[in-house]
Amino acid sequence: MTITVAAVRERDPGERRVAIVPEVAKKLQRKGCRVLLERGAGEAAGFPDEAYGESVVFGSSREAVLAEAEVLFKVRPPSLEEIAALRSGGVLIGLLAPHADQARVKALRDRGITSFAMELLPRTTRAQAMDVLSSQAAVAGYKAVLIAAERLAKFFPMLTTAAGTIRPAKVLVIGAGVAGLQAIATARRLGAQVEGFDVRPETKEQIESLGAKFLDLGVQAAGSGGYARELSAEERAEQQRRLAEHVRKVDVIVTTAAVPGRPAPRIITAGMVAGMRPGSVIVDLAAETGGNCELTRPSEEHEVQGVRIVGFTDLPSRGAFHASEMYARNLANFLDLLLKDGRLNLDFADDLVAGTCLTHAGEIRHAPTRERIGA
Ligand code: NAD
Repeated sequence: MTITVAAVRERDPGERRVAIVPEVAKKLQRKGCRVLLERGAGEAAGFPDEAYGESVVFGSSREAVLAEAEVLFKVRPPSLEEIAALRSGGVLIGLLAPHADQARVKALRDRGITSFAMELLPRTTRAQAMDVLSSQAAVAGYKAVLIAAERLAKFFPMLTTAAGTIRPAKVLVIGAGVAGLQAIATARRLGAQVEGFDVRPETKEQIESLGAKFLDLGVQAAGSGGYARELSAEERAEQQRRLAEHVRKVDVIVTTAAVPGRPAPRIITAGMVAGMRPGSVIVDLAAETGGNCELTRPSEEHEVQGVRIVGFTDLPSRGAFHASEMYARNLANFLDLLLKDGRLNLDFADDLVAGTCLTHAGEIRHAPTRERIGA
């Protein structure tokens, strides 16, 4: 019996990505999977139904796809209605916001779904090819800089013209994880003078290797698993004091700072924004989890005393073609861990399988309790 792997058109407003692209559909088919899609699933990402060719079958309706899927690939977390329509006992893989809405997690448990929240994937070397947070963050970092460059009424590069020399724009990137490093690289390619800042000390070398300057604000806060920890009140005050002075001279700030499972650290205060030059731009990639800037409005852009603050929460979706391509590859690589001879074979002794599992066999098994799973 072949296993049915499915995807539907994402329904969240503004979401253009799709969880199965043609290349991945072909790959899954070669592995013996039956690939089932809702009609129009990939259209908004630039993959019309015809692009999938013979590698997929289309369901008669969205409900039929959900009900038939033995494995459902998803970009955004399913709604409660979608969960109710899922095949009981099926497998769901996607970004499931495990720390957010517990009603959804309970609904998955009660429906008997084995769900894997890709946010929980342990960040080990073996996991890199499955790491959707990294692949999507790279798109967000790239887009953030393009948005800033477009909003700024200045050139990014230094230009020597007959009308005189134009000084390069000054770009500050706060948080040098995957998104931040991509933002730094993109801003450098556009010719800006770039600085980066992070609380993890190892980022200094990474920032400098991209041709940017490391901004030392005198705070270090490496946490576990390659992530940052939350700052203490004193550390935060010191960071704020030095930063307030510095932001007066920059044209663009791209903020990407995050601490897993926590609200985004508040780094740019209203006072700092007031001290920035009119015409400056802030792009806040942490808008979805509360924003790194106090004045950010999630999903919106607005101006405060001449400073434009962009809080878009759909940046990966704005690069939907390549974001989907990488996302679908990540999920297919993860599915490989769950298959043996073309059949589902869940091996909870595998740290990646156990660590990513959110619900299974009528239980909630997310990260804080995962020690129990291997047993
Ligand atoms: P993230 O999205 O959790 O956070 C973004 C950045 O914000 C991080 O670099 C973090 O240190 C920084 N930050 C947090 N609080 C801050 C503050 N108060 N001020 C300034 N910066 C702050 O991080 P991410 O991009 O997902 O990745 C974090 C780490 O994980 C990196 O070391 C990355 O190389 C590593 N990683 C490993 C793998 C893997 O091995 N599979 C995959 C991806 C990322």
